[in-house]
Amino acid sequence: MESSGIYHNEKVVIAGFVSNCRDGAMSEFGRVETVCRRLMRQFPNAKTELEYMSEYAFLVAVVLSAQTTDVQVNRVTSELFRKCKTPDDIMALGLEKLQNEIKSIGLYRNKAKFIMRLTQALQEEYGGKIPQNRSQLESLPGVGRKTANVVLNTLFGQDVIAVDTHVLRVSKRLDLSRSTNPLVVEMDLERIIPKKYKRLIGNMLVLHGRYVCKAKRPDCANCVLRELCNWNVG
Ligand code: SF4
Repeated sequence: MESSGIYHNEKVVIAGFVSNCRDGAMSEFGRVETVCRRLMRQFPNAKTELEYMSEYAFLVAVVLSAQTTDVQVNRVTSELFRKCKTPDDIMALGLEKLQNEIKSIGLYRNKAKFIMRLTQALQEEYGGKIPQNRSQLESLPGVGRKTANVVLNTLFGQDVIAVDTHVLRVSKRLDLSRSTNPLVVEMDLERIIPKKYKRLIGNMLVLHGRYVCKAKRPDCANCVLRELCNWNVG
């Protein structure tokens, strides 16, 4: 479940990147390339930590993951999808029982409603299959740009970058973007990240933010990016 308001239109400004480029384009491109290379070395197989057994189960897991941890979602979905393997099974389960299945997750009432509605829309409009393009994904209830990007990247290998709270924070600290608007940050990253890293950069930044560059106590002393980062507190 996503607030589409988060991703409102805003003029894209690559603040730090553009100004730094004026002073020395090569060095800034080099710094970004080095950030990507080191993250790749640290997280060579960066991928989602959500567990799933089907494309449909993954979409449901991403919707459930809003404002909660992947660990919590995995706990719930492993049980839910043991009983309900297909969209038909979820529809047969019904709203009340679905709410009961996911009640340990925050906002479970609304999330259950979105899951029922998106499952129905999937069946009626896409024959139960997950669409592979953004506008169709975003037409589904509870699916905003971030969820669509996660699905396009993870399930269909597309070079799109999903901006969550970790990507937002780490991008700012590393001066990859100076915006706090997820769409602007996504566009900034889209422009400055070399093509060969685009498919993995979202997950690399998520993992780096989750385990190293944490919100409250970033582990700068042990960070592989410390001399590339002005925010370094180590
Ligand atoms: S040096 Fe610190 S603030 Fe910078 S990326 Fe590493 S952990 Fe984050």
